[in-house]
Amino acid sequence: MGVPISQMWTVASYVLGQRLRGRKRYPLVLMLEPLFRCNLACAGCGKIQYPPHILKMQLTPEQCFKAAEECGAPMVSIPGGEPLLHPQIKEIVAGLVARKKYIYLCTNALLLSKKIDLFTPSKYLTFSVHLDGQEEHHDFSVCREGTYETAIDGIKAALKRGFRVTTNTTLFDGADPVSVRKFFDEMMTLGVEGMMLSPGYSYDKAPDQQHFLARAKTRNLFTTILSNRSSRWRFNQSPLFLEFLMGNRHYTCTPWGMPTYNIYGWQKPCYLLQDGYAETFQELIDSTEWQKYGTESGNPKCANCMVHSGYEASAVNDTFGSLGGFLRTIKATIFSKNYPNSEALEALNQPMVPLHKKLVPVSVSAGGKAPQPENTGAGV
Ligand code: SF4
Repeated sequence: MGVPISQMWTVASYVLGQRLRGRKRYPLVLMLEPLFRCNLACAGCGKIQYPPHILKMQLTPEQCFKAAEECGAPMVSIPGGEPLLHPQIKEIVAGLVARKKYIYLCTNALLLSKKIDLFTPSKYLTFSVHLDGQEEHHDFSVCREGTYETAIDGIKAALKRGFRVTTNTTLFDGADPVSVRKFFDEMMTLGVEGMMLSPGYSYDKAPDQQHFLARAKTRNLFTTILSNRSSRWRFNQSPLFLEFLMGNRHYTCTPWGMPTYNIYGWQKPCYLLQDGYAETFQELIDSTEWQKYGTESGNPKCANCMVHSGYEASAVNDTFGSLGGFLRTIKATIFSKNYPNSEALEALNQPMVPLHKKLVPVSVSAGGKAPQPENTGAGV
């Protein structure tokens, strides 16, 4: 288990407190997007497609603190855009740490070595470095060579100074399970605290629409990757969520569990969809038609979604919501540790052409019209 005990205790007591108060919908992680601007232009990203005047905008530290206090979630994830481009990121992080929020600063780490001295190591601060796999695959995935190497240098610099560091990896159709497993080994050798995984979601705005995973494919891919796992691997996320990705467990979406706040306000209903905005967190909870979302709702936008921002909160609520859920988590952590599966083992021996060998990498520029990836006709 990659999550420290003090953080687990904070989350557990928060969830139990919410349930004792009879709160039906409560947030677990605030997704705080202080800006959409980025120093990369990945094909799978919907954020950098905004027009230049929007990409120039950013939240003030005071707006960030107000959002954190308003929703009250014990954890704050800071994605973007690239948060290290925010000129006041130091103040934002320091203010959230002072409020005892467990922060995951999600970064591509291109600026991490340069900006690391802006921050002070704390149990409340984790750099969550975006790495989509081994070097060749990651560089392909973010459409720029050399990013993996720079990110690894950033991770080493952060670890050397005593910071908490995790990785976050998004997997798309065509990911090579053998390579992903080797990547996990490499991250453990590097010394990161834990890894986070999620399948990609098909953003309307993302230029690459071909390689997002449908549900059955997601379960197959994650079963192949996560069965027969190495005892060295540590994941900084709920073991029940990983079982959900492997198809061992069914959850309905909890979109209010990870509410998103950005320059437009509180985004309805979740991190991925933009069906309007609310001015306050309470307005988001009260005015969103939640029954219209989630896989069971029949909403085509939710049909294939299994992403962590919708379903990890469901898994955490399962853990702390009942004795049965708690026992399921203990079982997943201790007794199912390696998830032996002979079919999955066999699948690892199937010849596979990795995605980055099948396609020509795309390069898109922020604010410009994004070109479509070029299919080489290699059967994708
Ligand atoms: S299923 Fe996915 S897209 Fe739909 S509300 Fe949940 S997180 Fe958002």
